[in-house]
Amino acid sequence: MDDADALALLPPLQGCLYCHAEGTTTLLPSRQFLGLGSEYATLKCSQCGSTAWLDVDESDLDDWRIRYRRVNRAAPYYYVSIHLGKAGWLTAEAALTISTSGYVQRTRVQQAQHGDLSWLKPIVLSPPPPLMIPGEKTYLALRGVTYHQTSVQGVWSRSEPGVVLDSGKLYVTGEKIYLLGQRRDWAHRLDEIERVDYDEQAWVLYLAAPGQYYRGLRVDGQLDPQLVAAVIAALQASL
Ligand SMILES: [Zn+2]
Repeated sequence: MDDADALALLPPLQGCLYCHAEGTTTLLPSRQFLGLGSEYATLKCSQCGSTAWLDVDESDLDDWRIRYRRVNRAAPYYYVSIHLGKAGWLTAEAALTISTSGYVQRTRVQQAQHGDLSWLKPIVLSPPPPLMIPGEKTYLALRGVTYHQTSVQGVWSRSEPGVVLDSGKLYVTGEKIYLLGQRRDWAHRLDEIERVDYDEQAWVLYLAAPGQYYRGLRVDGQLDPQLVAAVIAALQASL
């Protein structure tokens, strides 16, 4: 097997770690010239348009590193754009783990968008938290959630956080959301939610009541903001 054949077996050349298309990546040799340019080969994907530097030790082909330089930020790539796109250099092991999580994440978002939450396995909390009706199925339990009230004008300005009414753990069931707050407990029917939005840091759930919203930061080990938003929208659509 010559070097080119051996390189072609590297995971990032078999399939794109970012969009998971197969056979769409190519490796362009380093263009360093007179000390200018990158000393690394550039990996390009014709499917998603991402480019990355690939640092390969040809004496040990399992020992490669990757650094994404340009990535596709379209909604299906939400997870990988954060975890691969902004990570700097990643070891082979880290990059492959993130890539797998990114694939699972994207599949789950698509399932939720089609109303399929079978992967979530809702649970009946016993005893139920305050205000919750016994037997209600809990789909999400989210830590570190804040409940805000802005002035009505403030709703249109993202820069105004408003007053924090409460903070605590939010449970999302098939019928309602429940906040176990520091100050008191709150409950709203899912049809009181006007819309759910997300960005890289957080999800935001706007209530129909003017100026009121819930916000939860991205927390490691918890569903990410895009998936939280997709699940809540799916539960609302199934009312
Ligand atoms: Zn790709």
